[in-house]
Amino acid sequence: MDGLRQDEAAHSERADGRSSRISRIELWIFSYPMVGVGPGGVDVTGARSERTRLAVRIETRDGAQGSYVGGQANALSQATACARSVLGLDAFAREQAYERIRRQLRKEDRMGAGVIDIAMWDLAGKRMGLSVSQMLGGTKTRLPAYASTWFGGEGGGLSTPEAFVDFAEECHGLGYRGFKMHGWTDGSPVRDAEAVRLLGRKVGDRMALMHDAACHLRNFADALEVGRACDDANFFWYEDPYSDGGLAAHSHRRLREMLRTPILLGEHVRGLESMATLTLADGTDFVRADPDFDIGITGTMKIAHFAEALGLDCELHAPGPAHRHCMAAMRNTNFYELSMVGPSRGNFNAPVYTCGYSDALDDIGEDGCVPVPEGPGLGVSYDWDYIARNAKSHVVVE
Ligand SMILES: [Mg+2]
Repeated sequence: MDGLRQDEAAHSERADGRSSRISRIELWIFSYPMVGVGPGGVDVTGARSERTRLAVRIETRDGAQGSYVGGQANALSQATACARSVLGLDAFAREQAYERIRRQLRKEDRMGAGVIDIAMWDLAGKRMGLSVSQMLGGTKTRLPAYASTWFGGEGGGLSTPEAFVDFAEECHGLGYRGFKMHGWTDGSPVRDAEAVRLLGRKVGDRMALMHDAACHLRNFADALEVGRACDDANFFWYEDPYSDGGLAAHSHRRLREMLRTPILLGEHVRGLESMATLTLADGTDFVRADPDFDIGITGTMKIAHFAEALGLDCELHAPGPAHRHCMAAMRNTNFYELSMVGPSRGNFNAPVYTCGYSDALDDIGEDGCVPVPEGPGLGVSYDWDYIARNAKSHVVVE
């Protein structure tokens, strides 16, 4: 323990007299309007709802700053606990922060940890003049993306299997070569299976297709029914099929034995050790990770390297600048998830970027790819006035 503390001191009190110890962390919850999204995540033109996000800014004694906007607003208390646990730590000591945070939140799901870790990576990159992907050794500059839709639902733009096909055609025209449907939320497998087979017939020769039930199907038999449709339609993967919460390794091993379509589980499995346990119990084919959910870029790259050791691919959940930098440094991955999108062209992501960064449907290139941000750190800048104006909570740890 003493050795660890001495190590930290040697690292942060540098020869030039500057100190990279973390001296202040600010956290905000802010809200923004989501247009084109109705109740239950259904694509509805003209509908309006509200979404909240976390924003974090970290400062060191010598004035370096790092920031990040993302994560889950309901994890503010966890993020605040993380902030307190890393205050005074060297801002470059991300592995030590990871260990402290992991212990600090050992009784929680650790959903508040990611924003702190990612802001530390942003700070380090800005101080070193390197992008996060460069720090990770990444060389990719463009990432193949899939359009990840809103849920099927009555009265919306994705209310029928045919509507999903029409939207897939539209996405193909924009450049996408991957398309993932989120099924209906009523728990019935019938329309989901119908939409899966129709998508396979109409666009399966031109796009990688995925189905995400997001745990809405009720039981194993229903999951099997939609899975057999995925087999018929040659789907690329079948994600979180049913209401076990995407957690039950035994049942998904059984599903994997009965289906040809690869299973993707893990969006609701938190962190390296749990993801390793699920994977080694044969509960999934693709490994899942998310910098917002799995203790940041540090935690995500540990999961990616675990998957690499097994010869498996790691697919990142959800979009964002941290996700792009991680994917740029991963060999064993396939697609960037550009979610949530639909014919109404509503906005899922917060309008907080002042640098042109965006994860909207139309941001895809003709090559079916999105760019990895350039510039130091995460390579993005935020509208802090917007965040402050729309703040619902503001916490300062110093
Ligand atoms: Mg999902």
